[in-house]
Formats: sequence, C-alpha cells, structure tokens
Amino acid sequence: MNAADLRRAYTLMRRRHGHLGWWPGDTPFEICIGAILTQNTAWTNVERAIANLKQANVLEPRSLLELSESELAQLIRPAGYFNVKARRLIPFLKVLVREFDSEIEQLLCGSTRTVRHTLLDIHGIGPETADCMLLYAGGHLSFVIDTYTRRIFSRHGWCPPDASYDELKALCESSLSHKPGRQLLDYWQDYHAQLVQVGKDYCRPKNPRCTECPLQCLLPKDASGHPHPSW
Ligand code: SF4
Repeated sequence: MNAADLRRAYTLMRRRHGHLGWWPGDTPFEICIGAILTQNTAWTNVERAIANLKQANVLEPRSLLELSESELAQLIRPAGYFNVKARRLIPFLKVLVREFDSEIEQLLCGSTRTVRHTLLDIHGIGPETADCMLLYAGGHLSFVIDTYTRRIFSRHGWCPPDASYDELKALCESSLSHKPGRQLLDYWQDYHAQLVQVGKDYCRPKNPRCTECPLQCLLPKDASGHPHPSW
C-alpha cells in the first residue's frame, strides 16, 4: 500500500460526494449516544431512537440513568438490539454521571491515549465506538475503522483481509497525517464519512458496483491491465 493511493482515494471520494459534514448530532453527548446506538444498525434507525429520547425529554445523562433498563430499551427500540444496547448505554452513563459529574467534555478531555483507555474500559464500548466518540464528539485525532473500511481496503489490496483493527488504524493514521492542525481533524472526520458512503453505495458485500464507484481507478489491475478487485 502506498500512502499516495489513500490520499488520492480521498480526493476522488470528496470530488464525488462533496464534504459530508459528519457526524450528525446536536451535542457531543448526543454523538456519543448515537455511537453506541449505531452498532449493527442503519443511522436512520438511530435517528428514530434519538427522537424518542428527545420527545421523552431524557436525552441528558442523569435522566437517562434514572430510567429502568426496560424503559430505556423501549425508548431506543427503533435502533434494534434494544435490550443489548440499553445494557451497553447504562455502564457508559454510570461512568459519565458518577466519575465525570455528567460532563461529557470532562470525560473526553485529556490525551487521546488516556481518554481512549477510559472509554475502552467501559463495558460495551469497543474500539470503533470509542474512536467515533473521540473523533466526532471529542475532537481527538483517532481514526475510525469499520466494516466498510476493511472491505474497501482489502479489495484494493491496501491491507490483508485479516488485518487487525489496530493495524488498519495505524496504517490510516500514518498515511494520512500530512495536513496541519484543525485541517487534519476535519480530514479524518470526513475521510471516514466518505468511506462509509462508498461502502453503502458501491462496495457492497456482494456484487460491488465498481464501474460506477469513484475508487475504480485505484483498483489493482489484472494481467490484461483491467481494474480488478483483489478478492
Ligand atoms: S471500486 Fe469496487 S472494490 Fe473498490 S471501493 Fe469501489 S466498489 Fe469497492
């Protein structure tokens, strides 16, 4: 893999989609709740769950924690796996309320490494969720890896299919660190958003739409020189 390919990929995706302005959410707290609710579901379902929380006037750490697990599960029902997600929200809320006085900014304040460890220590928060919170709610430089990233990268031969989360994250962070300060944060935020868009619209698990995809020109070539996904 060549860092130039990854940077060119962004140029191509951005040219197709424009700046995507991720992540949806009115506040850092809402972004964090969304990051937990979006596990294994489409964002439109998360929006409905968050709308329920707003309508019930409980989208606030203490109010959510005062709900019973079953009340919380019913409110977030549109997000799917609602019982599991209620059980994942509660430990996050407990840490936020009890250790950080309900202040999400306090939880997300500090070195990226320290905050990431704090998040990963919370039951139900894995690397992808933690990195979404860090990158989009906390303004930390912590690249997010997801299923779309893995599929696109491995089909282009940019990583082995069995690359670990940490290996992919390190690859992206080292290859895409060429912008200064705040520009870099926006770049990483939008880069992940662009990959999600390509993953949804073109790079499907079966029958990818390579001929219409903005990344087609970055596919490996077969023996006859034609673009050919490596899978
Ligand atoms: S060109 Fe094909 S393999 Fe590459 S990202 Fe697009 S759809 Fe996926």
